[in-house]
Amino acid sequence: MSDVSFLESVNKSFDAAVSTLELPPGIPEKMKYCQSVYMVRFPIGSRHGYRVYTGWRAVHSEHRLPSKGGIRYAPDVNQEEVEALAALMTFKCAIVDVPFGGAKGALRINPKEHTEEELERITRRFGRELAKKGYISPSLNVPAPDMGTGAREMAWLADEYRAMNPTDINAIACVTGKPVTEGGIAGRTEATGRGVMLGLREFFRHPDDVRRANLEGGIEGKRIIVQGLGNVGYHAAKALQEEDGCKIIVVIEYNGALRNESGLDIEALAEYRKEHDTFEGCPQGEFVKEGQYLLEADCDILIPAALEGQITSDNAGRIQAKLIAEGANGPVTYEADQILKERGVVIIPDVYLNAGGVTVSYFEWIKNLSHIRLGRIDRRADETRGQDVVRAIELMAGRELPEDISKKLRRGSDELDLVRSGLDDTMRIAYQQIREVRNTHPGAEDLRTAAFVVAIKKIAMTYQQMGA
Ligand code: NAD
Repeated sequence: MSDVSFLESVNKSFDAAVSTLELPPGIPEKMKYCQSVYMVRFPIGSRHGYRVYTGWRAVHSEHRLPSKGGIRYAPDVNQEEVEALAALMTFKCAIVDVPFGGAKGALRINPKEHTEEELERITRRFGRELAKKGYISPSLNVPAPDMGTGAREMAWLADEYRAMNPTDINAIACVTGKPVTEGGIAGRTEATGRGVMLGLREFFRHPDDVRRANLEGGIEGKRIIVQGLGNVGYHAAKALQEEDGCKIIVVIEYNGALRNESGLDIEALAEYRKEHDTFEGCPQGEFVKEGQYLLEADCDILIPAALEGQITSDNAGRIQAKLIAEGANGPVTYEADQILKERGVVIIPDVYLNAGGVTVSYFEWIKNLSHIRLGRIDRRADETRGQDVVRAIELMAGRELPEDISKKLRRGSDELDLVRSGLDDTMRIAYQQIREVRNTHPGAEDLRTAAFVVAIKKIAMTYQQMGA
């Protein structure tokens, strides 16, 4: 049996949530379908001769503007995939109270086949084509990184847009995920992976939820398998290992996996991969060439953080993880979701768990529009207040505070502290809203349906109040 497509999976999750709600006629239809998709084709000459590149930018919703969503570079991406990703962005933004509509973009390209100069030319051209039609704009449509793109590509897009719009004082807010030196914000690169860690941390604060997943205790020491050591997988795994004491026992990449029951050192592993482009030969653990089957290996938490459609009706029955934390978008198909639900495997859904990226993109966009670094005004005031508190405590106690405590209290919050604090708050509140719905709303007894209910209710309210 073949599973439904990624877009169908998203639509089915949406329909399941809608069926538990009583919405005014027309509202679900308004919310379900992509509002517009722009396809572009352009030729670029390179070492490979002239090649025609195909790209898309899909706008799923505009109830809030700008519409927001990453740009993906992948050799086999297609329009339906972009539409599915754009839809997820609509619901994701609503769940984490980020006031944006949903969008997504993609270019059909294998970045590995190109030099940096070629990629720059292609990216700038793609950006020009999108900007010409309003599909990149600080007020209408703001891209960000996704699979195959990062801060470098965002810097090229921002620069191209600025050159096309030299009198727009907010031009730099046309994309997020830029390098910090080019108008980016501290903590954006790590944000999605860190959000995965913060979402898991919040999950483990609720013993009832932990029991539902047939797990015990806190997050510390949990055995984790990660698929994809890219932006999301690397930062999630690193934070879970270094800050929460988890054991990353397997990391799966497209060209092989590495396993070590005592835990892998993620930082060192990423360094090794950067140098060798593979885990093969890495002394940290056992290399498994055909590593994909390790998705099914015994562990507490499985974090698919590579791409969609990884857990299907084919392998869902063999998954041994008790908890699946969706770092990637759409890693579990609709059919697999049903099988896992029946088997009692708990899934923390993509539409919530990987929203850390768009949350910090929102902070970056605000920073760009306000033209000031977060913490610039109040950091020293914060520091002075801290010093006063330390002095007062020491005066009253008649002795000095231990240096580590004193240092913490005296420190004013910088941009990274503020971004991490905002991200933490967002991930906690959103999870609490979702679990509340799961606990009280008939028909939404799993976290995915509950997350969609949370999103749909918020968006429906906007549509009703707009009266459109
Ligand atoms: P990335 O390109 O940085 O990393 C993806 C990683 O997965 C790469 O290391 C790649 O080699 C690996 N990979 C590819 N195919 C694989 C396979 N078959 N098996 C194992 N590994 C494989 O991409 P990313 O930005 O980390 O995005 C990963 C996922 O997270 C995507 O689904 C993306 O849509 C989603 N996401 C990303 C962000 C973000 O801020 N970057 C935000 C939200 C969601």
